[in-house]
Amino acid sequence: MRISEILKKKKTFSFEVFPPKPQNSKVGDIFGTLDALQQYKPDFISVTFKSTGDYADDTIKIASYIHKNTTAEPLVHLTCGALSKTDVERVARVLEEEKLENVLALRGDRPADYVGDYLKHFHHASDLMEFLRQKHDFCLAGACYAEGHIECDSLYQDLVNLKIKQDMGAEFFITQLFYDNNYYYRLVRAAKKMGITVPLIPGIMPLISATMFSKIMNMAGATIPFELRVLFDRFREDKKAMYEIGIAYSVTQILELLANDADGIHIYTMNNARVAGDIYERINNVIEKELR
Ligand code: FAD
Repeated sequence: MRISEILKKKKTFSFEVFPPKPQNSKVGDIFGTLDALQQYKPDFISVTFKSTGDYADDTIKIASYIHKNTTAEPLVHLTCGALSKTDVERVARVLEEEKLENVLALRGDRPADYVGDYLKHFHHASDLMEFLRQKHDFCLAGACYAEGHIECDSLYQDLVNLKIKQDMGAEFFITQLFYDNNYYYRLVRAAKKMGITVPLIPGIMPLISATMFSKIMNMAGATIPFELRVLFDRFREDKKAMYEIGIAYSVTQILELLANDADGIHIYTMNNARVAGDIYERINNVIEKELR
């Protein structure tokens, strides 16, 4: 089913997973996680795609597993930065054969150690959307950024570009992670003024370890609110406390987003079903009331 059809009727509750690193494990190792995620009744589960285009088969295998073995709709990420038009066409055909009809069309970022041309055939996600629409009938989604994309000078310019993605067929957007909901509310207000009418689903990444905290703090583009920073500074050496803080903060963030009519909730699970479960169990009444 097209996720856009679900979104016409209700807000969605969804998860993101990524293919396991092939050098560490087999693609099937994630199937147990997908089975476990089922109990929280996600409307869809998205599967990431490597920005180099490597291991595309693994992304597709995982999405096919979701399609065949769960009640969730798979949403296949597809980054175009490293791909040629022939590569994209090949992936699109396999997606059709596998009856995978939802695609999160993305540009991707050039990895520092990438050898070869990047952004040679497609410059932006909107180019990929335009290309896919010529011969295929996917339900297309795109990425958006509550604090604005890092390469854009202003949120205004980023939203001008977001509108292009809507015009190229994006039927909903999922946000990059953020920790201050005010940025999401501002995004929704500004996007509406710009004529963006499709849902903007907030993406929530629970910060459950000191390592994750450090990574996010070093990653430009995601503001860590003062109150969260204080908790990190106080409890960074205590693994269990850090986990509790991450779950508690996400729970509060989600409750506030839902109370303010956010367009759904998408949880970056990091392939950890327990994280999704610990959030769900704490607020299942609210999730059932707002997202079913
Ligand atoms: P674009 O939409 O092309 O935007 C990139 C920049 O170009 C922005 O600054 C934008 O304002 C500008 N821009 C956009 N369109 C135009 C235009 N037509 N003209 C001029 N400027 C324009 N990365 C992965 O490698 N794999 C994944 O699976 C993955 N999944 C993601 C899922 C989500 C929900 C999000 C939010 C991000 C994901 N990313 C993933 C990261 C993403 O690839 C990067 O954030 C990347 O830097 C931008 O991708 P984009 O699709 O938003 O690009």
